[in-house]
Amino acid sequence: MAESFEAASGRGSTSPAQVRRLGKNLTGYNGETIDIRAVLTDCASASRDHGWKTEGMIADSDLVLPAFIRSSTNPSSKPVNIYISAGIHGDEPATPLAARQLLRENRWPAFANLWLCPCLNPTGFIANRRENHQGADLNREYLQPQAREIVAHISWLQSQPSMDLCLCLHEDWESHGFYLYELNPDGLPSASERILSEVSGICPIDSSQTIEGRSAANGVIRPTLDPKTRLQWPEALFLIMHKTRLCYTLEAPSDFPLRSRVDALVIAVRTAINCFALSEW
Ligand SMILES: [Zn+2]
Repeated sequence: MAESFEAASGRGSTSPAQVRRLGKNLTGYNGETIDIRAVLTDCASASRDHGWKTEGMIADSDLVLPAFIRSSTNPSSKPVNIYISAGIHGDEPATPLAARQLLRENRWPAFANLWLCPCLNPTGFIANRRENHQGADLNREYLQPQAREIVAHISWLQSQPSMDLCLCLHEDWESHGFYLYELNPDGLPSASERILSEVSGICPIDSSQTIEGRSAANGVIRPTLDPKTRLQWPEALFLIMHKTRLCYTLEAPSDFPLRSRVDALVIAVRTAINCFALSEW
C-alpha cells in the first residue's frame, strides 16, 4: 500500500550502494503493490494545492481517468509544452508513485506548460497486472484503439496542443537496471546520456546490448522501425506520429526496491526537462 511504502522507506533515502536486486520477479512482477485509488486521491489533492486544472478523460464511479494541466507561470517567456504519462501497465507501481511525487514536490520550470496523466490503467493496478480489467494491454492499442481508456485518452490528446517533449513512465520486471527508449526522428539534442548519468546515482543502469529484443547501448534504445510498418502502436508511437518530435520512454527496473525506482523515475523526468530547457533556451 502507498502508506506502508512511505512509512517503510522514507523520502529521498536512496543510496546506490544500498540498491540490490530483490530476486522476486521470477515470472513477472512480484514486488510491492499500491492502492491506486489512494494514490490518485493524493495526486488530485497535490494538483489542487499547486494550481493545476483537472480534466476527467473518464470520470465514472467505476473508472476514473484523470489528467492534470498546469500553465506556464512566466507569461513573459515562450512556453514549452511538456507531457508526462504514467500507469499504463498495472504491474508498474513506481510510475503513478513518481507522478504523485512530482506533483507533491511541485518543482517545475516556470516556462513549462504541463500535462500529466498519472494513471492510464487504474483497473490494472487493482488487479496488479499489466493489462486492464478486460485483459487488454493498453499500450498496444494506439493505432487501433478498442479499450475505453485508450479511446478516451486519444480523444483527449487530440484536443491538446502539440508537445515539445513527451515522457512516458514505465517499469520492466525483467531488466537488470534502468534504461530508456529515445524517439527523436529529427535528431534534436538528446538528453539520454545525461538522464542515465543522473539515474545511475540512484539505481543500476541496464548495460545489456539487447533489451526487449532491441539493440541497446549503455541503457539507451533508439528504435529505427518505421511506425507505419507496425501493426500495434504503443503510446510513444502515437505521440511521435501525432503530437511531438521528441519522446522518451523511461523504464525503471522493477526487481529493485520501490523507493529507488520512484526516485530514479523522478530524477529522469527532471533531467529530461532540464536538458530540453538548456538546449532550447
Ligand atoms: Zn510498461
